[in-house]
Amino acid sequence: MLKATEKIWHNGKFVNWDDAQIHVLSHVVSYGSSVFEGLRCYETPNGPAIFRAQDHARRLLDSGKIYRMDVPYTVEQLTRAMAEVTRINGLKSCYIRPIALRGYGDVGVLPKSNPVEVYIAAWEWGKYLGDEAINQGVDVCISSWARLAPNTLPALAKAGANYMNSQLIRMEAAQNGFAEGIALDQNGFVSEGSGENIFVIRDGTIYTPPLAASVLLGITRDSIMKIAAQLQLPLVETNIPREMLYIADEVFFTGTAAEVTPIRSIDRIPVGTGRRGPITEQIQKRYFEVVSGQVEDQFHWLTLVENVAEPQPVGA
Ligand code: PMP
Repeated sequence: MLKATEKIWHNGKFVNWDDAQIHVLSHVVSYGSSVFEGLRCYETPNGPAIFRAQDHARRLLDSGKIYRMDVPYTVEQLTRAMAEVTRINGLKSCYIRPIALRGYGDVGVLPKSNPVEVYIAAWEWGKYLGDEAINQGVDVCISSWARLAPNTLPALAKAGANYMNSQLIRMEAAQNGFAEGIALDQNGFVSEGSGENIFVIRDGTIYTPPLAASVLLGITRDSIMKIAAQLQLPLVETNIPREMLYIADEVFFTGTAAEVTPIRSIDRIPVGTGRRGPITEQIQKRYFEVVSGQVEDQFHWLTLVENVAEPQPVGA
């Protein structure tokens, strides 16, 4: 169960957690018209820091743009709002969820008088695929559901509606006793998990599906690509046939929620030795050092909450 906090940011003001409500006839409820983000704020030696806040804010605006949804805030304003919601709730490490949705107005597919409402909530949250997953890895399956086909629902937009497909993948996997499902794209190549990008390693080379394989351009995916380059690990973006997963030495998921999670079996076939592999471990270690400020922030990925949030008024 979600750990409620005190305040949620709504269109530039704070409302109480329980008052952040929408009408059942809001456009989003019938037609799935929302775009959203998920970020993590980590404790660092210099205080709480949001990981890649500007990149997530930009992706939110990009998702809105694809859907002709005008999100009336800049990257800087959204970054500040994310820092403020973290600070006002006294959070040190948390998950942050900005959502833009089409609200209450006319009922009908064409959004006419439906205002775009923006909310940002934050709360404490643990490991997405379980505490043990990070070290032990997870058992996953190939989904019988494919990812979004090109020119249907745009995969590059992080839209609420896309998660109907994600739910099919995740529920089927859970039903069959797996932690997660890996979906293929329309052409039968590896795409991604229901909420994670995927990396496959064989003979020391790291492979990940390209942006045209119906993937979300994950911000963790991008971070891992840059970290791999720094560690001088060869990495190629290319189409990956399904069977490559079965003969890989190592496979791992990436995502804000999943962070870097090793995969130890796929369709009950052990990946490599059936435990977290050395390259995954090396990348994972560096990722956690970077997000928690243990190493120099070379890429300027950390936004210190106290540097960005408005100072609290005295006595507030
Ligand atoms: N793919 C999907 C479908 C996702 O929902 C997510 C989580 N946002 C990701 C990939 C990973 O993206 P990120 O690293 O930006 O969290």
